[in-house]
Amino acid sequence: MSSDLTAYLRSNRERFEQEFVDFLRIPSVSTEKRYAEDVARCAEWLAEIVREAGMDNVEIIPTEGNPFVVAEKMVDPAAPTVLVYGHYDVQPVDPEELWDAPPFEPTYKNGRIYARGTNDDKGQVLMHVQALEARIKGGFGMPVNVKLCFEGEEEIGSINLETFLRSAADRLACDAVIVSDTGMLGIDIPSIGTGLRGIAYLEVFVDGPAGDLHSGSYGGAVVNPAFALAQIISKLKDEDGRVTVPGFYDRVRPISETIRAETRALPFTDEEFIEETGAPALDGEAGYSTLERLWYRPALDVNGMISGFTGDGAKTVLPAKASAKISMRLVADQDPDEIAQLFTKYVESLAPEGVTVRVVPAHGGWPWSGDPDSPLFEAAAQALEDSFGRRPVYIGEGGSIPIIPLFEEVLKGPVLLLGFAPPGGNAHAPNEWMDVETYHKGIETIARLYDEVAARGI
Ligand SMILES: [Zn+2]
Repeated sequence: MSSDLTAYLRSNRERFEQEFVDFLRIPSVSTEKRYAEDVARCAEWLAEIVREAGMDNVEIIPTEGNPFVVAEKMVDPAAPTVLVYGHYDVQPVDPEELWDAPPFEPTYKNGRIYARGTNDDKGQVLMHVQALEARIKGGFGMPVNVKLCFEGEEEIGSINLETFLRSAADRLACDAVIVSDTGMLGIDIPSIGTGLRGIAYLEVFVDGPAGDLHSGSYGGAVVNPAFALAQIISKLKDEDGRVTVPGFYDRVRPISETIRAETRALPFTDEEFIEETGAPALDGEAGYSTLERLWYRPALDVNGMISGFTGDGAKTVLPAKASAKISMRLVADQDPDEIAQLFTKYVESLAPEGVTVRVVPAHGGWPWSGDPDSPLFEAAAQALEDSFGRRPVYIGEGGSIPIIPLFEEVLKGPVLLLGFAPPGGNAHAPNEWMDVETYHKGIETIARLYDEVAARGI
């Protein structure tokens, strides 16, 4: 990237921040109906700034819910095409009394901007738009084709995203998808996302006698469903912390050497993690570090157990039923439906005589994994290093973002998770903030990224 482009970014810093502040002032809360007009206004504001950045075919596309804002800059059919995804809707602000300043009146403090949406996700959306503006309006040119796809329903579960992606698959056709809606490991530690766990969530119901029985009159002679449930649960993992559901690990991708080395090098200690959790000790699958267990290995957890008498004092009851909510966090390439079936079959086979066992699936989501040895990751790593002055780290995420695997499935290109949210940035909480320097470095990174992608291909 030429020093001229850096100079352009520097000379436009104040205006970029002013635009960011204007964006943040629009209360585009998608979860509450009373903000519907603001959400629509926000889409219009965004479309306008995308147009001003020099993008073509800017359009607000209505859905049954909130609209998408799409645009493109096609410079060369032979060059790679990158699609950028982000969202302009935000979380509600309550409890509002816990905010130090009004959530839609952006406030500067200690090198940060505080407001709802600063890091999730308006800041990250606008970084992309302003990076594009710098290249197009600054006269530096686009070495790749870029498409933008911003939605207004991410915070309510991306209700219309799948339908939209499938119906607009030609229009959105691309070689790779860049998603900027994740976080950094440290305020000055640029980070690239390498994996997201999927989920299979089920409920196990154990039924015994027709009604609760007196434990004196019947205890010892009738199978107790709570005990039967405990027996089943105790057989779901072995002594090495491995899940015993037959076939559970069949599709699990081994952790690559690159990822293992990157993960080992991260500033992370079990001692600090113990402190963070307040747990007396850590546990998990033998042969893996804590971060590997959290990010790159599947897990099975009991989320809740319900049975019998749970009030104060003693009631001598033999409960009629017991149930447990159980979730499994999945990693690539585990299929949530297949895992749910394997789990159901296994749990039914564990049912002791004298009770009936039913397994009811609740919901599922696919895992996702990126390839750190791919040209796309290398391009991002280089752009981040040149902008932040240090090599990025590769980080996983134990939770799920179901839309990421959806992008890969529908658009057939790899996803890059290029996130700039600060750790402890209070996304979804009061006093959400974005680091101002990171904001500008993010714009610079994205402006550089296009050259790196063009040089390497996808
Ligand atoms: Zn978000």
